[in-house]
Amino acid sequence: MKDVIIIGGGAAGIFCALSIMENTKESVNVTILERLEKIGKKILATGNGKCNFTNKNLAPKKYNNPKFVTPTLSKYGYKEIVKYLESIGLLSKEISEGRMYPYTESATTVLEVMRMHLQRLGVNIKTNYEVNKVVERNGRYLVYNKNQRNYYLECDYLVFACGGASAPVLGSNGSGYSLLKPFKVKVTDIYPGLVGIKSEIMILKVLNGLRFKCNVSVVEKKTKKSVWTQYGEVQFKGDGISGIVVMEASTFIARHQGNYIINLDLMPEASLDDTIRMLNKRKELFESSEVSSLLTGMLPKMLGSVVVKKASIDMNSYVKNLTNANINKIAGLIKAFPLEIKGDYGFERSQVTVGGVSLSEVDSESLEIKKMNNAYICGEMLDVDGECGGYNIQWAFASGYLVGKKVVESIKNNA
Ligand SMILES: Cc1cc2nc3c(=O)[nH]c(=O)nc-3n(C[C@H](O)[C@H](O)[C@H](O)COP(=O)(O)OP(=O)(O)OC[C@H]3O[C@@H](n4cnc5c(N)ncnc54)[C@H](O)[C@@H]3O)c2cc1C
Repeated sequence: MKDVIIIGGGAAGIFCALSIMENTKESVNVTILERLEKIGKKILATGNGKCNFTNKNLAPKKYNNPKFVTPTLSKYGYKEIVKYLESIGLLSKEISEGRMYPYTESATTVLEVMRMHLQRLGVNIKTNYEVNKVVERNGRYLVYNKNQRNYYLECDYLVFACGGASAPVLGSNGSGYSLLKPFKVKVTDIYPGLVGIKSEIMILKVLNGLRFKCNVSVVEKKTKKSVWTQYGEVQFKGDGISGIVVMEASTFIARHQGNYIINLDLMPEASLDDTIRMLNKRKELFESSEVSSLLTGMLPKMLGSVVVKKASIDMNSYVKNLTNANINKIAGLIKAFPLEIKGDYGFERSQVTVGGVSLSEVDSESLEIKKMNNAYICGEMLDVDGECGGYNIQWAFASGYLVGKKVVESIKNNA
């Protein structure tokens, strides 16, 4: 009887356990060790409590390293994951833009179905077991519990499924990386990804609560070159901006560390010249109104006044007094409203970790760790992150399933 320990009871660890039990007829003893009081806590918080677990538009290019994820995703793509979940009792549906959710639109159902199946298959689950040390001895691993001095469990096969460092209250606190240190397995620098961006409070305070669709660009400060642009809804906070498009921008910024600002194109449908023409028409229409009204009916009121203020125009002067230079400046700000980046909301509020276990440390076909024997890594713990839209859980499920299969293959080959 071979013992397998999976460190981490998140999406990846759970799928790995299911995969091992389903793919072997040999007797295998599979145990999930989870540092929190229950497994799958993060799953419950995903997709605003609905769990967007995969996407019909799944493609390697949705991830930071398309080449690395290809072998896994070509075997366990979105269809395979949907089908597998259905086979264990979970119905699903597309809600929008290919995003797949449980039919119930409740993340609790996803976890419940998986827990029931873990139980049916006889997977052992030990909670409140935070692994703080792994030691290799005589070809087996001793896996220590931080909460019980000198207590350890032993196994023949070890799977690291500890997640990254994002949303530590939901379990993944970055502790997994340090377990690999004694084995000289490299971990890259890590940063919060899919997270809101902090910016200038003076500008944003009055916009708190506003949601507005526009183009968001990441612009290199030095060259003024736009290096990333996407259209979407920006959610204005008192001290920063958020929303899917901003979260995607944050991942780009985290991955390409540099000196950037954010530009918002508040009217992507119009060119700069169109915008100038529009403003000149409004100058005629609103000539006797105060400047603060110039953008009424064009932009949300507060956003309009923030733009005019940023152009350093006296808010109490009249529209008819606006010079061509004033009009050009306002148009320029509508097309590229600059926001300084003052950081992000940190790992606490990030959905994914950018960076992780270096991909050169594992074989992309099996996710086996090159420097260790019979040890594997799956899920977000690796330096793999995907876009918003179900791609991160898809990776966790698919990589967990693949590792489970590879563990079974190895057990069979060594029998
Ligand atoms: C608020 C939020 C919303 C999200 N929404 C979506 C979404 O809708 N769609 C999507 O695709 N992705 C979403 N994500 C991202 C997605 O949830 C993760 O990428 C995915 O769950 C990662 O799975 P994982 O199993 O690799 O890691 P995790 O889910 O982080 O699981 C790791 C587990 O390991 C445990 N652990 C860690 N260290 C140890 C240790 N030393 N000893 C024992 N146990 C340990 C942790 O407690 C945790 O349970 C969201 C993330 C957040 C935070």
